[in-house]
Amino acid sequence: MPTHEHLRRIPSVNRLLQTPALQEAMQAFGRAPVVAAVRETLDAVRDEIAAGRMPDLTPEALTTRIIAHLHRRVFPTLRPIINATGVIIHTNLGRAPLSQAALEAIRTVGAGYSNLEYDLESGRRGSRYTHVGELLAELTGAEAGLVANNNAAALVLILATHAAGHDILISRAHLVEIGGGFRIPDIMAQSGARLREVGTTNRTYIRDYEAAITPEQCAMILRVHTSNFRIEGFVHQPTLKELVALARRYGLLVGDDLGSGALLDTTQFGLAPEPRPQESIADGADVVCFSGDKLLGGPQAGCIVGRREVIDAIKRHPLMRAFRVDKTTLAALDATLRAYQRGTAVEEIPIWQMIATPTDVLRQRAEAWAGVWRQKGRQADVVPSQSAIGGGSLPGQTLPTWVVRLPSAHPQQEAAALRHATPPIVARIEDDSLLFDPRTVRPEEEQTLVRVVAATLEP
Ligand SMILES: *Cc1c(COP(=O)(O)O)cnc(C)c1O
Repeated sequence: MPTHEHLRRIPSVNRLLQTPALQEAMQAFGRAPVVAAVRETLDAVRDEIAAGRMPDLTPEALTTRIIAHLHRRVFPTLRPIINATGVIIHTNLGRAPLSQAALEAIRTVGAGYSNLEYDLESGRRGSRYTHVGELLAELTGAEAGLVANNNAAALVLILATHAAGHDILISRAHLVEIGGGFRIPDIMAQSGARLREVGTTNRTYIRDYEAAITPEQCAMILRVHTSNFRIEGFVHQPTLKELVALARRYGLLVGDDLGSGALLDTTQFGLAPEPRPQESIADGADVVCFSGDKLLGGPQAGCIVGRREVIDAIKRHPLMRAFRVDKTTLAALDATLRAYQRGTAVEEIPIWQMIATPTDVLRQRAEAWAGVWRQKGRQADVVPSQSAIGGGSLPGQTLPTWVVRLPSAHPQQEAAALRHATPPIVARIEDDSLLFDPRTVRPEEEQTLVRVVAATLEP
């Protein structure tokens, strides 16, 4: 059929809008987005015809295309997904899932007004920083605490307040790229402080720091946790206590960027020790910062703890206003920290629940999934594997797990089909198989995962 004939057979916008499917869509999503979806789909159809293709022009086929296009326009682009990768703190997948208490706190504080910056005692203006600061201080043994938008902001605030125009000493081993192309030295440069690199990548001694101190110009020694890599072998770094002792002699501050900042002892789960903020405070650091959404298991935030005068000065810095947190973040962070205060973090906080899940439980869950998928005609094996902590915590550290392995002739295509499912499912691809790790799939997601995988993948 000639092109102009084919073009003439495209139904009109009005005719398509009369179809029951689009009438229903207009009820649900409003007229304007449906009309726009019709126009854009018909434009695409005309382009296809002009390119010599022959798209299906029946109203049924077109309304199906229009509704798929409409859904991309009207549904939020940020959507929940099921993480079957076994990577617990997956930065690309939103890091820490929140606890029930944190979600409830967001709901109740977000739904109405709150005393965010209102002192109920005096009836006058209060400070949003009182809310979580004291709890952070209590849990870490610090004099005071403060919360910023994220840990990168926390670091900029610390340095801009206490080292702008001055030198900061940092070991060459601590010049870390944290991910997404962001580098600690670049973030630090934004504070207006001058970096003085000391030592070498693998070995830095206390005398290297001492040699680099120019008393009038130097303000701080900064330690940055090498949170996403590990160097082994011929290595040496001074302890925090040694850095503190040196800093005291020259009147310098010691800052410690812990990255993850686990409040719990990770060795109880068979993992390497992750530095804890309470240890840095006990060892004498003046100011310590860590993320809210890594091993703390809360919302995105940058927690700062330390000596009261150091923290108070940060609160007064103009950048504090630019990096301040929202009420829902404060509510969620407070609720997350209360679980640590109660001593119930492992029971309540999803990332610790995932870390603490025993392997026999993971194996049972994997067996149950595999059983369903086998009934659908897929070969499904339950095999031992490793779950990663991920997200700039405990580099190279894994936990033994059991995964379902689905051998696949087209693993990339099948993984793509799962990413396009509703909800999207992200699995691991290894050799010629898809792997599903129960560790990062929350129990309430299990039924959906099993059903969607069975429906999406060919037998
Ligand atoms: C992750 C990380 C940061 C950045 O923390 P965000 O909360 O993502 O801003 C800074 N420093 C270190 C050492 C980190 O691991």
